[in-house]
Amino acid sequence: MTKSKKTTRKFVIANWKMHGNLESNAALLKAYVDQLTGLNSTQVVVCVPYPYLAQAQILLQDTGIAWGAQNLAKNEDGPFTGEVSAKMLRDFGSEYVILGHSERATAYCESDENIAQKFMAAKKHGITPILCVGETLIEREAGVMELKVGKQLDAIIDLYGIDVFRNAIVSYEPIWAIGTGLAATPEQAKAMHLFIKHKLTQVNEADENTVKILYGGSVNPQNALQLFMVENIDGGLVGKCSLNAQEFEGICQAAETCHD
Ligand code: PEP
Repeated sequence: MTKSKKTTRKFVIANWKMHGNLESNAALLKAYVDQLTGLNSTQVVVCVPYPYLAQAQILLQDTGIAWGAQNLAKNEDGPFTGEVSAKMLRDFGSEYVILGHSERATAYCESDENIAQKFMAAKKHGITPILCVGETLIEREAGVMELKVGKQLDAIIDLYGIDVFRNAIVSYEPIWAIGTGLAATPEQAKAMHLFIKHKLTQVNEADENTVKILYGGSVNPQNALQLFMVENIDGGLVGKCSLNAQEFEGICQAAETCHD
């Protein structure tokens, strides 16, 4: 078990997607440990491809940096070829799992209901779900971004009630900002984070275990501080820049600087 449960103000979560190999991961994780273990108020989490969970567990144990996966099965166990359960993730010390990432939702037709069931499976096994929500460019241009994000959150609330969001993480990831180099403006992010916060008000009233709301989509060392200073942005989910130790450190330092 990692000692990752410090009193956290901001989260910075690396999404490695389908990148890396044993050798490059070892170097990157070593750089993370060298550069990031001194942070006081930022929880760093690395979400690696499944085969590298054991490597993350060995190299990150007792460093304060937590690790997790990028998906899980909604089922406990059984004849589900190619799937990985929450219990299996726990076997490798995973404390977090990214769910509903738009790359998966698009490529593998994941429905909101399916994602909701995965969310519950994670909670049931003590894994913190990092639920990705966000709109396409067409939806933004049509002005229906809150409708879209509200529907994604309602899929979970309708099935399991709002309380399942306690201690969970929601990451607002406008699909048009992911991997494009074009992040949301602080104003765009502010408006959506406020919407999500209001939607989950009941959870936020219990401030001990409030839901964290992160921003994801082309976060880099240059824009991180400006984004993280926005009210109700509790940190970032970082794709591309998490593969570069220097850039990732810059983002983590921004989070550390601007915690409230
Ligand atoms: C992501 O895929 O979750 C993401 C935020 O990617 P990027 O930082 O590369 O936009």
